[in-house]
Amino acid sequence: MSAITLDHVSKNWGEMRAVNGVSLTADEGSLLVLLGPSGCGKSTTLRLIAGLDQADSGTITIGGTDVTHLSPAQRKIAMVFQSYALFPHLSVAENIVFGLRVRRVSRADRDARLKRVADIVGLSHLLERKPSQLSGGQRQRVALGRAIIAEARVCLMDEPLSNLDAKLRHEMRTEIRSIQQRLGMTMIYVTHDQTEAMTMADRVVLMRDGGIEQNGTPEELYNRPATAYTASFIGTPPMNLIARGEMLLGVRPEHLRMVSQGGHPARVKAVEHLGADSIILCDMEGQPVSVRQDGFSKCSPGDDIQLAWDAGSEHQFDKTSGRRLETAVSEMKRAVSG
Ligand code: ADP
Ligand code: MG
Repeated sequence: MSAITLDHVSKNWGEMRAVNGVSLTADEGSLLVLLGPSGCGKSTTLRLIAGLDQADSGTITIGGTDVTHLSPAQRKIAMVFQSYALFPHLSVAENIVFGLRVRRVSRADRDARLKRVADIVGLSHLLERKPSQLSGGQRQRVALGRAIIAEARVCLMDEPLSNLDAKLRHEMRTEIRSIQQRLGMTMIYVTHDQTEAMTMADRVVLMRDGGIEQNGTPEELYNRPATAYTASFIGTPPMNLIARGEMLLGVRPEHLRMVSQGGHPARVKAVEHLGADSIILCDMEGQPVSVRQDGFSKCSPGDDIQLAWDAGSEHQFDKTSGRRLETAVSEMKRAVSG
């Protein structure tokens, strides 16, 4: 039993309401991502779950037990921070088993667990090294190993990959996800990177100004953003939002296509070639719009083009509240897809 539930949890820092009535559940054995821009309250929320800070109001339960007033140690949680917080004078092996030593786990048990964990995180050949002799990714894996060896049912990670280069980040997110699934951990993972959120999560909680903007599966956030804010946070590049009277019309760059006639006139401003596809930045009737095109685009800045899209790929949002408006087409699509 390791599901994590927050019920109306709030935390103020002086006048600043860092976490504002947050309620959410991470199911047992699932990975929940807290996503959002810097300063929206992700780390504070995670620290409240870990018990490193105390909530002003609300309750936190882990595996059905109310842990709101328990110490961090009593909550039996493993945690990985952005800064790996390794002991520089200890070897990789000593760093990984440090927590077990403190808890007076027997030598034989420690050795057996170290062997298994070093294997999982791919550090078996580096156990005698000091942190200063490791690359960033290897250090990150030491921190990960330390969290795994604790055999905690619950693991919290706060932007653990943000110090790594893009290639390593990609490898590590796959590795973390597979370890989490293999060990059946309940994990809450904090990031500002929507790609990490979309690729790793069972459930994404998008935060904004201390509150929850949307809580759903990656597919729900992509296909049915509840607000214009979510729409503009998810996707690379994010959804185009075109002002039309009282509403914002949303169309994803991958759902726009160039047509030879009958489309909306637009002028190409810039072209980004990514290899597999290209992003065409245009001005469409006075509004900036990006278009994703397969392959190496032949467009050049200054070209006059025409853009079209299917009604079924439109999203509509109220201009003032930002909330999703249900259109006849979207209602019909939902009915058809069940
Ligand atoms: P995130 O992790 O999403 O970037 P944080 O949870 O760290 O956001 O911060 C949320 C807000 O709370 C920010 O405005 C931040 O400046 C403030 N804050 C965070 N920690 C403290 C603290 N210990 N004391 C005062 N203010 C804090
Ligand atoms: Mg943070």
